[in-house]
Amino acid sequence: MNNSKSEMMKIVHLDMKGAPMKVDYLEKVFQVIKSWGVTGVLLEWEDTFPYTGELDEIGSVKNAGGDNLYSLAEVTHLLACVKQLGMEPIQLVQTFGHMEFALKHPAFRELREMDQAPAVMCPTKSKSLQLVMAMVDQALQVQPDATYFHIGADEVWHAGICTDCQAKLGEDKMTKSKLYLEHVKRVVLHVKSRVPNISVLMWDDMLRPMDAETLIEYAIGDLAIPVIWHYSTVECFGLTKEMFNIYTHLFSKVFVGTAFKGANGSCQVLSPAARYVSNHEAWLSHMKENERVNFIGVILTGWSSAITHISGRQAMGAVLKHFVTCPTRRISLDVSKINVHFHDFKGGRSKVFPINKAARGILSFDNLDKNRNIYMFVHGFATYMNHPIADLVRRTFKAVPNSYLILIDHSAYTNDFDGKKKSYKREEQIRSGVADYVEVYHCDHGALGTKSVLGDIDFFVNKGSAQPQCKSLTPSNKCSHNVCVSMWMASVAHRDWFPARNCDKYEAFKNWRYDHYATLCELLPVALPSLASCLKVLHRDHDGIPMEHALCEDILPSHEWPGEEVARSIHTFVILRERAIGLLTSEMVRTWLNPWQIARRYTVPVHVEGIRVTAHHILSELVVLKADLTNSLLRITGARSTDEWVHSYIEPLITKVTRLCRIADERVVCEAGVKPM
Ligand SMILES: [Zn+2]
Repeated sequence: MNNSKSEMMKIVHLDMKGAPMKVDYLEKVFQVIKSWGVTGVLLEWEDTFPYTGELDEIGSVKNAGGDNLYSLAEVTHLLACVKQLGMEPIQLVQTFGHMEFALKHPAFRELREMDQAPAVMCPTKSKSLQLVMAMVDQALQVQPDATYFHIGADEVWHAGICTDCQAKLGEDKMTKSKLYLEHVKRVVLHVKSRVPNISVLMWDDMLRPMDAETLIEYAIGDLAIPVIWHYSTVECFGLTKEMFNIYTHLFSKVFVGTAFKGANGSCQVLSPAARYVSNHEAWLSHMKENERVNFIGVILTGWSSAITHISGRQAMGAVLKHFVTCPTRRISLDVSKINVHFHDFKGGRSKVFPINKAARGILSFDNLDKNRNIYMFVHGFATYMNHPIADLVRRTFKAVPNSYLILIDHSAYTNDFDGKKKSYKREEQIRSGVADYVEVYHCDHGALGTKSVLGDIDFFVNKGSAQPQCKSLTPSNKCSHNVCVSMWMASVAHRDWFPARNCDKYEAFKNWRYDHYATLCELLPVALPSLASCLKVLHRDHDGIPMEHALCEDILPSHEWPGEEVARSIHTFVILRERAIGLLTSEMVRTWLNPWQIARRYTVPVHVEGIRVTAHHILSELVVLKADLTNSLLRITGARSTDEWVHSYIEPLITKVTRLCRIADERVVCEAGVKPM
């Protein structure tokens, strides 16, 4: 590493895509982060920049973002503020992917690469470059002395789809990589034509899979400085030595992209410092290991809508502990020998049925309690549970006593009504809709498995393909069904270990980071303690003293915490939300006020009273919190962002608790039901 940590730039990224903060609030933040050793601020304007002329629809001039932020004077003032404090102001304007804020408008719709998706711009249409050049020009006009400029260019998910790009791809030696690089090159050259000595930054994710020859052909290293972004924790860090080796040859200098908020789940409201500190620790050790790469700075990103990971530190540990080898075996399609195990954990009994008699057998189970939950687990084709796994199941379900569990080896292969074996068909896979809730664990795509999303929630173990410790010889059999059992048991026992988000295939999940339309996540005030902790890690390493986790703080002293009251209210909200959901899903409500009992007026006042009192208590606290938080949010951000946060998080909860209060109020004054009506 040519630069010591003290010389490396430390740049804080402010994402204005959601909840842009008011100018006086940002002034306070700038002062505080300066005192924490920050050397630059990366401002990603999106729809908060006051674009004029034919671009006026997409920015703050026509209030596209709804928060009336920022005017031209405010933008100029913010850039000057950063500079006056001795920090480097850097503007980020997306020029390829993540252009929803422009391409969602009818005027620019024709420039989409894919009509249904407003994120990616077509690089082939001439008007595309005109749009980008106009945005760049206007941004640079307010900062003619800029030293750096960031052109984004990440997550260009669709390429070569429109007819123009298809035609271009038909040309000699043209590839999708070259389509991408040609556009980037044109944009960079345009930026440099405006400010000759400027350094252009770009996110590196699209360059990573490209072959070195193509990158050398376009002299990408002379054009731009890549920001290698990776937001995973120590346990899940996934950048390879090969990548760093290639980058050493391609780029004379690189930036690193870490995260201090918005990388831990799609709709999180808190930014746990330990999670983000772990990302910085991972980066520090990788920077040490790859000393030949010239890391010149760290950009600490703070996304306003989040990136998610399939599992946290704990979940990964739990899963890895249970990685097991599945034996090599011949795939047989005969399911007639499969047994169905029916477990009653509450009653401490179980019964086994041949598959063709299972349904009748289970229904005639002694004293079958139809009010208990039935979990069905389809374990995998012809895979019998070993002892440790069976133990794991028993232990897990001890904590879920009010339930039955059905275990089946497999159901993707079925017999038809005449008892004839039916061939394997993808349509027969278990999928969402066959039960109230379906979870699917993918561990063998590319062979018998699939990458398609089938359930209500899908998990892609080890990216959904071959499992690392499986010694099977045939490519069609590289799955360990027992890993799926471990995963499922962990998801039953530790629901908070498995954050998830909506997407329709693994690639979309993997690539997902920010979407203009996604739920607003952690607000800046909540994430400032995380940012402070992450910066401490970067500074501490310079001293050679390893970071102590005691220094990961989720709070800050008041004088270092602009927006403290917002942050504290959100912490209160998280606790209150837990209490509210706890009540709504409690045994008390499910026992004495279930939907059937309410519909048939078959309730008893004495039990309803307890529910009523608790519900009113929570409701009144929620209402007070909503008012307080609305006021404090309006002091630091705009009306639209305030409305969005309150109506995304607090209001839906108030609606549910209010409904429970209303029902409890009605039923508590009624006599105990005589018979269901
Ligand atoms: Zn195109």
